[in-house]
Amino acid sequence: MSNSENVAQLLNPRCKICRSEHLEEINQMLIEGRPYSEIIAKFPDLKLSKSNITRHKRHFNFVKRGVEKYYQQLEEGADKVVDEIKALNDIIARMRNYAMKVDPEKKPRVVEVCTNAMFRAIKLKHELAGNIQDPASKLLALFEEALKEDE
Ligand SMILES: [Zn+2]
Repeated sequence: MSNSENVAQLLNPRCKICRSEHLEEINQMLIEGRPYSEIIAKFPDLKLSKSNITRHKRHFNFVKRGVEKYYQQLEEGADKVVDEIKALNDIIARMRNYAMKVDPEKKPRVVEVCTNAMFRAIKLKHELAGNIQDPASKLLALFEEALKEDE
C-alpha cells in the first residue's frame, strides 16, 4: 500500500515496522488489539521489541482507523437489518393478502399456515426493529379485520 492511499498512515523510514513488508498485517493486529507478544512471535525475522511496537503506534492513526472500522461494521450491520425487515414486511403483506382471500371455513389449514407464518414474521420483525409492541395483539387485529371482510 502506498502512502497516498492511506491518509491514516505516516511512514517513518527509521521504523522497523514501517519499513517491513508485514506493515499492513501488523497494523491490522494492532487495530484488533492483539498483544505485543503475539506480534513479536509472529514476525521473528523483524526481531521486534515492545518499544519498537509502541513507537510504531505513533506512525499510524489507530484511533482514526478504529473509528472508521467501527462505523463501517455498524453500517454493514444496519444494512443487513434493513434488508431483513424489508423481506419480512414482504412476507407479512403477502400472507395478509392471502389470508384475506381464503375462506377460513373451506380452507382452515391454509389460513392456519398463513397465520403462523405471518405471526412468526411479525415477531421477527419486531425483534429486529427492537420494538417491544406486542406482536400477538397486532396479529389478532389483522385477523379480525380479515374475518370482517369475509362476512
Ligand atoms: Zn512505524
